[in-house]
Amino acid sequence: MLLGAHISIADGFGESLIRGKNIGCDTIQIFVKSNIQWKARDIENFKIQEFFFNKRETKIDPVIAHSSYLINLASSNKRIRNLSIMSFIKELKMAKELKIQYFIFHPGYHKGAGLKKGIKLIVKALNQIISKDNSRIIILLETTSGQGSSIGYRFEQLADIIDKVNKKKRIGICFDTCHVFSSGYEIRNRKDYEKTFEEFEKIIGIKRLKVFHLNDSKGDLGSIIDRHQHIGKGYLGLKPFRFILNDKRFQNIPMIIETPKDGDYKKDIENLTILRSLIK
Ligand SMILES: [Zn+2]
Ligand SMILES: [Zn+2]
Repeated sequence: MLLGAHISIADGFGESLIRGKNIGCDTIQIFVKSNIQWKARDIENFKIQEFFFNKRETKIDPVIAHSSYLINLASSNKRIRNLSIMSFIKELKMAKELKIQYFIFHPGYHKGAGLKKGIKLIVKALNQIISKDNSRIIILLETTSGQGSSIGYRFEQLADIIDKVNKKKRIGICFDTCHVFSSGYEIRNRKDYEKTFEEFEKIIGIKRLKVFHLNDSKGDLGSIIDRHQHIGKGYLGLKPFRFILNDKRFQNIPMIIETPKDGDYKKDIENLTILRSLIK
């Protein structure tokens, strides 16, 4: 199994790999853009060389990128939309420099303009972004909880987006257990777990599922609350994680925890240990 966590890049891309290795990750997720201002370009390059060196040393693979939270491709506000597209392209470029394979983003918020309009804008932006990008990075739409005006809380909405993107090869899905559950899909018993993935297969296709976010949920089924909880400590409990971790269809899919952090990643170690104990 490929299990890992979201790791901070505050100390550099290279350091994030060492941190990941130390807490028991086979794979890690990072933001490619730090909040910290890089002082000079050569520092950035230096960190990239360190990243590749550490990647070989730690054997952490794959490294997955998550877009910054500011990006909203569904925005009807021209300024925000243009900034989002520019930032998306920039982050993809950075991911390409790091030879990253998967780039996860939240489809977007329509902010009252409606689902249909929001989806239309997301598709338009994605087609624009992909046409300007010559990498092979697979862009992953993350399933959402439906909180606020977020788009992507029904499999149909994600399928609709994929259907309208020109280069479908470049698109996949990141399946977040907390989001899918709080949006209303039951996965806590075998029967409903199978039903949910049958639906996913029928509407989107399991071949599109490239990354899991394994998070327990502070909100109950259908609560549309996007708040992550430690594995086994929320409304999901351990069962759905046991199902996923032992599901033959998902054996080679990277699985990332985004559970609440403490300063020194102790909680991540605990959550990863619990997940590993569920593998038969
Ligand atoms: Zn996310
Ligand atoms: Zn979330």
